[in-house]
Amino acid sequence: MSKNLLENFDKLTIWRRRGERAPHKPLLALWAIGRCLRGEDRLVEYEVIHASLVTLLRSFGPPRRNYKPQEPFWRMQKDEIWEVTEAHRVPEQSNGSVSPSDLRRLNVCGGLPSKIYETFRQDRVRAQMVAERLVDAHFPQTMRAAVLEATLGEFAFNEMALESGIGIEHSPLLASILSRRSRTPQFRNTILRTYDYRCAVCGYSFQFPEGYWPALEAAHIQWHSHCGPDISTNGLSLCALHHELFDWGIFTVQPDTLSISVATDILRQLPENTIANYHGTPLQVVPKRNCDYPAAKYLDWHSRNVFRD
Ligand SMILES: [Zn+2]
Repeated sequence: MSKNLLENFDKLTIWRRRGERAPHKPLLALWAIGRCLRGEDRLVEYEVIHASLVTLLRSFGPPRRNYKPQEPFWRMQKDEIWEVTEAHRVPEQSNGSVSPSDLRRLNVCGGLPSKIYETFRQDRVRAQMVAERLVDAHFPQTMRAAVLEATLGEFAFNEMALESGIGIEHSPLLASILSRRSRTPQFRNTILRTYDYRCAVCGYSFQFPEGYWPALEAAHIQWHSHCGPDISTNGLSLCALHHELFDWGIFTVQPDTLSISVATDILRQLPENTIANYHGTPLQVVPKRNCDYPAAKYLDWHSRNVFRD
């Protein structure tokens, strides 16, 4: 596969407004790669893509009333990793959008361009690598396995390629993304120390004699993959369970009171002693210094883009 082709996936242009999450294109690309790996038809009617993408966005996207799957379906053509049949017949509005009813009426299909599709068919490891890189660039580590499983199915796990690191040498851009994304040990150390090595929600704390604190993690409030900085005011020390629930948007922390809010619909389905009984209570552990308190702008970002209320 050509270097350019790989970089087109790395460079996927993402619609951004005030750091809002827009995982539409990455999810559509992952969905198409999954079809290719499974040997399914390359081109698919818009109607089918619409339904599949809405399902993925409900699971992994920010909570929205309307997901507009026609936007990535149409706009990803410009990224040169997507083909739309009969594109010349589809009326485009002045802002570059198209209407889903036109896409349905004209029986428009979409899919990976045949060159990419064939390359991925012949080199599945490479296709899996591209998929993993997309996930790493757009989702936090805690959601990685679930996103890959939902899009690639049985091809989700590719330990061999992961260990060998195939592909990184072909993309300086990817190398820079990975180095920027690396979970710096300093960030973890700083955050854990700031919260006195305890989970801010439940107070969990345990240290092995070797010095390691298992299942105690430094969570980014505004995700690292979405330009959240490695600083104390963008971090929370959380146990593994509460970190995962936080990244999945099951709960958030209110900027003014630092109290925990669990998503209303989810609250009554949760067993006690997980997060449900912390609903409405303040964080158990807060930093000693005021200047290390979680900043409102990052908590606001989490509440708008991740919290499932
Ligand atoms: Zn905890």
